[in-house]
Order: sequence, then C-alpha cells, then structure tokens
Amino acid sequence: MDIIKVPGRLPLLPEYSSFTETFRQGLEAGKFMTTACSPCGELTFPPKQHCPNCWSDEMNWVELSGHGTLYARTTIHAAATQFREQVPFNVGIVDLEEGVRLVTGLIDEPVKIKNDAAIMLVILSYDDGLLFAAKPA
Ligand SMILES: [Zn+2]
Repeated sequence: MDIIKVPGRLPLLPEYSSFTETFRQGLEAGKFMTTACSPCGELTFPPKQHCPNCWSDEMNWVELSGHGTLYARTTIHAAATQFREQVPFNVGIVDLEEGVRLVTGLIDEPVKIKNDAAIMLVILSYDDGLLFAAKPA
C-alpha cells in the first residue's frame, strides 16, 4: 500500500488492544490486515476474535489487497468536535475485492470519483500515528 505523509497530528488517536496490535503493525509494514475464520472462511473487518457467521474462535490474520470499488460516498460538513478542523471531508463505503465492505476516508478532490469506480487503500502517516483511507486506483 502507498504511504501518504500527512503533516500534523491525528484528529483522534485509534485505540489498539493486544488483539488489534497485529492490524497496527500491518499498517506500519504497508499491509492491510484483517481476520478470516478457519472453519468457514468468513472475512471480517474490523478484525474480530470470533466469527460472526459460525461463532468459531479459530480466526487467522490475513493480508487483503487494498483494492476494490467505491460503493457510495458522502461529504461531511458537520462533524464531531475532534474532526471539526477537517471539514468538509469525504467518506466512502468501499467494497474490497476479497468481499469486505468498510467505511473510510476518501481522498479524491478535486475530481470526485463515481460509484463503482476502482479504489485502492492507502496509509496516511501522521506525526503521531497511522490511519488508512481510499483513493482512486
Ligand atoms: Zn466462521
């Protein structure tokens, strides 16, 4: 995954547990990690310790491609206190090619991409941590 340097601090620090530390370490290594269920193969995002499909706790960490398509988008003009300095900003619902749907920031100004357009996830490197977002592929 591409890494984009963003000056300044994260608007809100993500909270990582001993379980989600694998996800954070993946971002540091340029990888987008999540969990997959061993018995049924269900992929989940965010990463989970139990499968929502078959309730197994046999979950494995897997790397996703970070490629997919834009399902929907919106522009946020009124945000929670922590994000007020970022408004307006874009948010997209993306479908990754492995079948995972997630919500993330969308970096596509000044030309807004349309639904079903190809996207790729990127890593945003702030002074104090990492986030991910989607941009046109
Ligand atoms: Zn399962």
